[in-house]
Order: sequence, then structure tokens, then C-alpha cells
Amino acid sequence: MVCDERIARAAQRVGAELVEGTSVMDVTLGGAEWTVRCKNGRRFTGRCLIAADGAKSKIARELGVVTTGANSAASRQYIKGGTHNFASDGVLLYPPYALPGYVALFRHSNGDIDLGCYLLPGGRVPPTELKSLLQTQVINDPYVREVLGDHAEPLERPGISALRLGGEPKTHGDRLIVLGDAAGQTDPLTGEGIHTAMIAAKIAARVLHEAFDEGDLCAGRLAVYHQAWMKEFGRDFPISAAAGRAINRFPMLLDTAAVAAQRHGARFMDGFGAAMTGVKPKSLFLSPRMALPLGAALLRLIRSRTEMEYRHGPRAEPAHDYSFAKNALGKESARDIRVLVSRPRV
Ligand SMILES: Cc1cc2nc3c(=O)[nH]c(=O)nc-3n(C[C@H](O)[C@H](O)[C@H](O)COP(=O)(O)OP(=O)(O)OC[C@H]3O[C@@H](n4cnc5c(N)ncnc54)[C@H](O)[C@@H]3O)c2cc1C
Repeated sequence: MVCDERIARAAQRVGAELVEGTSVMDVTLGGAEWTVRCKNGRRFTGRCLIAADGAKSKIARELGVVTTGANSAASRQYIKGGTHNFASDGVLLYPPYALPGYVALFRHSNGDIDLGCYLLPGGRVPPTELKSLLQTQVINDPYVREVLGDHAEPLERPGISALRLGGEPKTHGDRLIVLGDAAGQTDPLTGEGIHTAMIAAKIAARVLHEAFDEGDLCAGRLAVYHQAWMKEFGRDFPISAAAGRAINRFPMLLDTAAVAAQRHGARFMDGFGAAMTGVKPKSLFLSPRMALPLGAALLRLIRSRTEMEYRHGPRAEPAHDYSFAKNALGKESARDIRVLVSRPRV
């Protein structure tokens, strides 16, 4: 059972009514009650509306609370287990063509892998061109090609969905809360929004519980929700966006993190991973524990003038414990990559 379904079933167990296969057509607030009309003719009424309809945020946009379109996009494609060469659980690649976005490879428990590409705001390629990027650059990416080899069997065509990153300036109204991707509660540096949506949902539940008790669901009372999620993780978003711009301008910063990880191992990576995924605030990068190894790695890179050319791929990588060959392909060194790669069928 996947995570979404577990959550839905848990909500059902404590009294929520789950209505599936029903598309909302429009919502209207009349006095103290919302009316939700669905395409199949069903109607629902309620004292408060939570708009959690994803990055396109159709409901909040129609109500005028959210005023802009989605600002990014990501793709996903599953590749059948046993037909690829990927030997790791997960790898993020930062190719120049996607910066500050990235290409991600994740292994699932049955051996299938998820090949995705995330385009973030401010990058060289606008999100509208993700489809052609997949067909031109991602398919010919030297790292992706080594992973896919000659026999990769895609289980589907690449699917592309919108992302709304960076947090919307307003996520509440009279008897209204906007939540998750609809509220842009997704980190602008990673495009990840599952955990932040869950944190915001918990905050919304607490605020609504109190507001119902007080019998006050006006915009002023529900502003507490907006302030609380901003305090919890939203204030990190401008730092993430600035980091994305810096990476786009100075890609060497990514190599810096890689060098620091190689030298300091798990101790550094634990903090790096926690800050990148939003478990810890991005200000952690300014703490001596992170800033000193990063600063030292940057100096080392500048002094050695080492510049890895991404386009040369994993075969040109020097042998070390964190090499792509060793970690992602399960080879001792780049010399052991013997797969003759022609054009993958993706
Ligand atoms: C390709 C891709 C990969 C991603 N990978 C990661 C990742 O690895 N980690 C991570 O943290 N985040 C990831 N994200 C982001 C993550 O998916 C979102 O942040 C998260 O799903 C937000 O949850 P949500 O419930 O707000 O929105 P959604 O998951 O988009 O859910 C919105 C729901 O509303 C429904 N809906 C919309 N309109 C209507 C309507 N009119 N009537 C009825 N129902 C409607 C939709 O069908 C959908 O089920 C990824 C996103 C993409 C596109």
C-alpha cells in the first residue's frame, strides 16, 4: 500500500468520508457555507474549504487568493527492474543543462527505477521545454546512458507535472485554507513538497480545530495558519531560491559539496541531507559544522583548478569511494564499466 493510500485510510478510520472519482467543478461561498459542485452532479456543503488541489491551484486561483500559474515542472518515468544497470537506492545528477534543477534516479523496492528531471525557477531551460529536454539532453546524458544500458525497458512514457515552488504570499481567506502544492509549499531548491505539505496539513488541522471551537473562521483568524507554516518552513524558501540562483551561476558550489562529502563522509552528509530535504533549516549551512568543510573544499577546488567536465561522464571519473561507477553502477572503478551503450529506448 503506498503512502497516499495509508494516509487516506487512516483519515477514514477517524471519521473522514473518502469520496473518489469525483472531480470538483466549482466552489461558492454563500453566507457561512461553502457549496462544492462536482462534474458528476454531486454537491457537498461545509463550513470551511481546504483547497489542496495541487500545483495548478485551480480553486484558489478562481477564488483570487492565488494569482499566478505554476512556476516549475518535473517528469517521472519508471524503468523495469532487471533491465537497467542501476545499483544504488538514489542518485541526484546536476547536469549543466538542467541547473539549478537536476536529474534523479530512485530505486523502488521491486527493483524498478524512477528516472525524473526537475526544472526549477531561474534555470537555463524554462519548465515549458521539459518535454524536449527529455528527448534531447536527458536521453543522451552520459550518466543516464550508463544506467540504462542497452536493455532498459521503460514501463511508461515520461509523465510531466507542474510544480509550484516557493510559497504563495496568501494561503487563507474567509472560511478558506490553501494547502500543499496549491499553496506552493514546495522547496525551490529541491522541488520536494511531500513532507512540507504534511507539516502544513498538521498545522491547518490544529488551527481549524481551535477556530471551530471559537466559532470564528474569518480570514483574520485563519491567518494564524499562514503565519505558522511560514514560521515552520516557509521562511527557508527565499534562502533555497537564493541557493538555486547561486548554483546556476557558480556550478562549482555543487562540486564543493561533493568534495566536502568525500572528505568528511557520513557526518557531513547527514547534515547536508537534512538541510537539503527540509528536515533541518537551510541556515544549518552557515553553522561551523557545515560551513567549515564547505569553505575548505571550495578553497581546495579553486587551488587545484579541478573542473570535472560533466559531458565526459562516469568513465572519465577518477576512482574514489564516492564515484558514480562504484556507488550507482556497483563497479569497482570506471574501467569496469564495460556496457556498450547505444541509444537507450526511452
Ligand atoms: C514528477 C514529480 C516528482 C516528485 N518527487 C518528489 C519527491 O521525490 N519528494 C517530494 O517531497 N516531493 C516530490 N514531488 C512534489 C510532490 O509530489 C508534491 O509536493 C506533493 O504531491 C504535494 O501534495 P498535494 O496533496 O498538495 O498535491 P497533489 O499530490 O498534486 O494532490 C492534489 C490532488 O488533488 C486532486 N485534484 C486536483 N483538482 C481536482 C478537482 N478539481 N477535483 C477533485 N480533485 C482534484 C488531484 O487529482 C490530486 O490527487 C514531485 C513532484 C513531481 C511532479
